[in-house]
Amino acid sequence: MRRLLPILAVVVAASAADAQTPIDTGITLIRAGRVFDSERGVFLPARDILVKHGVIDSVAEHLAAPAGARVLDLSRYSVLPGLIDSHTHLLYLESPAGDLTAQGTSAVIVEGTPLRALHGAARARTFLAAGITTVRDLGNSGRFGDMALRDAIRDGSVDGPRMIAAGPGLSPEGGQFPGLQSGYRAIAEEEYRVVHGPADAALGVRENVTYGADVIKIYSNNTPNRGSLSVEEMRAIVDEARRLHVKVTAHATSDEAVWRAATAGVDGVEHAYQVADSTLALMKQKGIFMVPTDLDSATVLRYASRSQGRFTATPAQVPTFVNGQRDRLRRAIKAGVTIAAGSDNYIDLGMPQGEAAKHNLFAYAEAGMPSLAILQAATWNASRLLGLENRVGVIRARAFADIIAVEGDPGTDIHALERVRFVMKQGTVYLNKLSLGRD
Ligand SMILES: [Zn+2]
Repeated sequence: MRRLLPILAVVVAASAADAQTPIDTGITLIRAGRVFDSERGVFLPARDILVKHGVIDSVAEHLAAPAGARVLDLSRYSVLPGLIDSHTHLLYLESPAGDLTAQGTSAVIVEGTPLRALHGAARARTFLAAGITTVRDLGNSGRFGDMALRDAIRDGSVDGPRMIAAGPGLSPEGGQFPGLQSGYRAIAEEEYRVVHGPADAALGVRENVTYGADVIKIYSNNTPNRGSLSVEEMRAIVDEARRLHVKVTAHATSDEAVWRAATAGVDGVEHAYQVADSTLALMKQKGIFMVPTDLDSATVLRYASRSQGRFTATPAQVPTFVNGQRDRLRRAIKAGVTIAAGSDNYIDLGMPQGEAAKHNLFAYAEAGMPSLAILQAATWNASRLLGLENRVGVIRARAFADIIAVEGDPGTDIHALERVRFVMKQGTVYLNKLSLGRD
């Protein structure tokens, strides 16, 4: 069944049990009300977008519809490239009420990789429905369960965002399972690729790339454990990754961890919560991206309300949890570091995971980042971090036809992204609520 008629699409989209969407290789002409130019960070007036076989053929002020083309009227909407989330964990979900190590090891030894991949498939659909058409998935997927999900999405068996997948992250001893008894260290090694010295670190890169990794994730420090990779180990990783034409991104929370990763020459730094201005200057100098995996106020409160008393936060207390992140983001922008949006959303907040992930963008707004800059961080900037520049995160000829329509103006109010009405990925329409109007 093809989702052509809006009213029919609503019925189809409402069914959680429908099969995957048939791949559409036809020709579509989109009449867009206004279009986000992600490279320049501005909205352009009305444009027509011609899509052929999953790829944007041309964009112009007026295009004639080719014979037999489907014509979609998005003239009432803000039209943007599909959003990119640069930091996901589709195969892992954690309750705020539970213990990190108990839940993390349970994912390995009870849930298991095949079921994790199937659960990941269900979560992947929610990202697509939220308007996120590409994700970079950074591990916590057992041994390469992420590759199975990526490939099933790619071959059309499963509806989901395009995935750039890391495989197991290269980590110091113990991964991120604090308190795991030493006799069971092998459990951590089912979830992380624990490395022992520069030669083994390079071997870890070769292993991951051999088994399908598109990007290398490393843990400069492996919080909440206390380990860290040496600069020599990270240099060996970066050298091997360059040889194999994959990028390297580093989990790094402390200033020292960021500085060491930056010195080793990684392409991106995740989190960077405690980064100092001097290290931000080093990142800027080396062209290293930052992915601020920040929480908006609503998410902090939601997390607390679902934690069964493990974590408490009143609205008045929220600033004490988020002020550090907000300050760090403002300092990074001031230093000229390029920001790529990434949610790191692996928490069960009682809402669709894709919707929860978008709250990351609202956190940037709470730090004072302008809406247009946020949209750029989630499109143009992220595409460059992922090595997919000019293919995703942009509406121009020869890019994949990843196109979303939003009610309202996300260029002045980023919360308009909560009203995604239409989602196309590679020419196939996955969400069409154009007839519904306001929520
Ligand atoms: Zn993460």
